[in-house]
This record gives sequence, C-alpha cells and structure tokens, in this order.
Amino acid sequence: MSPPLEARYRNSMRRRELLTSLMAAPLAVTAQQTNRTRGLPKLTIRNVRPIATSGGRGYQWVFVKVETSEPGLYGIGSASNVNNALSVATAIEKHYAPFWVGKDVARVEDLWQNTHTRGYWRNGTIHNNVLSAIDMALWDIKGKRAGMPVYDLLGGKARDAVPMYAHADGRSMDEVADNVKRYMDEGYRHVRAQMGGYGGGGMIAPGQGSRPAEGFKGAAFDEELYVEIIPKLFEHLRVKLGKDVKLCHDVHEHLSGAMAVELSKRVEPYRLFFLEDVLPPEQIQWFRNIRQVTTTPMAMGELFTHPLEWVPLISERLIDFFRGRVSQIGGITAARKVAALCETFGCRTAFQEGGDNDPVNQLAAWHVDLSISSFGIQEENHFPAIVHEMLPGTAQLKGGYLYGNDQPGLGIDINEAMAAKHPLVPPGPGDSWTTVRGMDGSLVRP
Ligand code: MG
Repeated sequence: MSPPLEARYRNSMRRRELLTSLMAAPLAVTAQQTNRTRGLPKLTIRNVRPIATSGGRGYQWVFVKVETSEPGLYGIGSASNVNNALSVATAIEKHYAPFWVGKDVARVEDLWQNTHTRGYWRNGTIHNNVLSAIDMALWDIKGKRAGMPVYDLLGGKARDAVPMYAHADGRSMDEVADNVKRYMDEGYRHVRAQMGGYGGGGMIAPGQGSRPAEGFKGAAFDEELYVEIIPKLFEHLRVKLGKDVKLCHDVHEHLSGAMAVELSKRVEPYRLFFLEDVLPPEQIQWFRNIRQVTTTPMAMGELFTHPLEWVPLISERLIDFFRGRVSQIGGITAARKVAALCETFGCRTAFQEGGDNDPVNQLAAWHVDLSISSFGIQEENHFPAIVHEMLPGTAQLKGGYLYGNDQPGLGIDINEAMAAKHPLVPPGPGDSWTTVRGMDGSLVRP
C-alpha cells in the first residue's frame, strides 16, 4: 500500500534538499586551481603559412606556422615530403590555409577530423602530410598555452629517454661489423645492419652477368642472391660481435612473397630485433605465411598511409613493430591512436625517420615515444650544426638516446630568415633513389 500523499511529498522534498546541498558543495580546490579551471579564452587560427627550406643541406622540408589570434602565440608542424615538397607547400597555401583560418585552436580532435574529411577523399600522402602538420602545430600551441611539454599533455613520461637504433652499412661483412661495433661503443644497444646501401647484398655489379643486348647496364637486384647473402651477413655479425647487440635489417620491400618467407626463416638463428619491410605494402597478406613458420620479429609500415593497412596486421598479431612515419599517418593524434592499438594487441612502435626527415617530425615522434606504453624503438636521424641553428630546440642524440627538451609545446622553433636563405632546390631529372631494377631492366618495387 502506498504511503499517504503528505508523507510522499515530505520524502520527495528531503531528497531534493539533499541533492541541492550536494550540488552546492564546494569542490576541494584552491583559489589558484579555480582560476586555472575557469578555462582559457577562445583563440582562433589567424594565419597559416608553409615554410619550405633545404635546411642548407639539400633537404626537401616543408613546415607550417600556425599563428593564433593571441599575438606571438603560434605553433609549428612538419609537412615534409621528400618526393612532393612543392605539392605539399602549395596545398597548404592554396587549399588548406583558407579552410583553417578562423577555426578554434583548442579543438585538436575536431579539427583533425574536419581536415581529414575536408577533401572528401582521404589518406592521400600529400593530404596526410598537411593533416599531420596542422595537428602537430595545434599540439604545440596547446602545450604553450598550458605551459607544458606535449609529452605531459599526452600523459607524462613513461620512460626516461627515447632509445634509438643506428644505421650501420659497409661494402664487406667485416666493414659492416666494424661499423656496428663503432655504434655499440657509442652506447647504442640497437643497430640496423645493411650491406652496400639501398638493396645492397642482392646486387649484381654493373655490366656483369647475363643481360639483354642493349639493355639495363646498372647494378641489378637479384632476390635469390639477396636471400643467400643476408643470412650469412648476420651469421658473421653474431660470430664477431656476440649475441647482446640488438640487430635489425631493412629489406626495403624488395622481396616477393615466397622469398620473404624464406629470408624470415633463414635469419631466425641470428635472433634479429626485427626484420623490416620484408614485403611491399601490396603484399601484406604474406605476413600470415611468415608468422606460421618463424619467430623472427616483423617490422612494417613506413609506406602506410591508411589505417586499413595497419589495423589487420596489428590486430591479428602479424607484425611486432609498427613503422609508420608520424608526418605521414596524421600527426600526433594519429600516432597516439596507433600506439593504443599496438598496446592492446602486443605490438610495439618503431616510428620511421630516415635521412630525409626533419627535426619537427622527429620531436613529434619523441613526445609520443616518451608517453606511450607500447613504445619499442625510434629510428635514428641526426642533423648538421646548421639545422640546429635554423631550428633551435632540435633534439640531441647522445649515446643511443634522443633528448628533446622540457619547453612548453613541442620545444622547437624555426628561424624563418635563415630558412629563407636556404630555399628548396627544385627536383631535377633522373631516377629517384628508390629506383631499383633487375637484370632484365624491370623495376623492383619498394
Ligand atoms: Mg624501411
């Protein structure tokens, strides 16, 4: 039986009073904290400019500078694309800057999604560079406003510093061993070992071997030769250097499916830290075959631009290291999401650098590396003194570790006057460094 109407009314009033008193209860915060949580005034994007420079050393770098409605407050991002620098710079200036001006600086995720879908078609390489650049610049601005380095905004340090792997090469196995040893002596625990440059180890010398009449005369890649030689290189390195150094190797995507499986099996006794890019991006289904026959850890992804390329490999536990480049996958926002996916499925990050990359992208990767649990390793990249002068705050590489700084934001700036003195060198004729051919003159895809 229900209580009388008057009693029900009294109970209801008591509950309401209790609720009101709880809502009115002051939060346990100091006046200083109250001021901080009152929120920052709304800022908008006032102007966006691409800054293109050779860095004084023949680089093809494009940065963005995002200026806000607060005088003097701006952010820097990396849009570098060694193969399409002028296209990226034009896209920023002509298509994206007008779209961004007037938008809310604070809404990083929203502006990321809005930029991502702005062109309707997405995940193109140039579009991803542009998207990455605005994303980094917005994180830079957010950090400067908060007075915190970006890694703190991302959750704080999960490690003390960021270990890097070095690049050792050589024309002979002894020379490779000597160069790996040199890095070990510098303090590196991880070293990538190559033999004879891009595609090296599988090259038939220029003019040698059976070639078509009047055909290709240059150094020719032969995958069976490569699969014979590379395991011998790692056997040699283990004999000379012992088992402690963590060795990597990059295949540069040059193998066909069965040969990729074969090489992965053959290097297993030499316990690589990872075997990188053993397949071209069009053939990633072959990772399933590799997983069935060997425990050699797999690293893949520097050519990836679409989540549908990396999600199956990570979620099906077919690769061990994700190698995407931060400025090619969508910036810090995208890198954080990949890192979370990696953590869920036991994969680790090994964000790509390469010699063409720039210090802003390197620092963006560094802030993510520092703050994630799924970090594996970071690829080494070092810059000449002129770059440290042009981009003050460029990270320092010491003893196999990369050190950024604790300044608010990304912790890097650009001397625009100096950058202007070193403009981009327009691309000339001739093949790209990625052009590799076989004995019959056919292209070998990277
Ligand atoms: Mg690679």
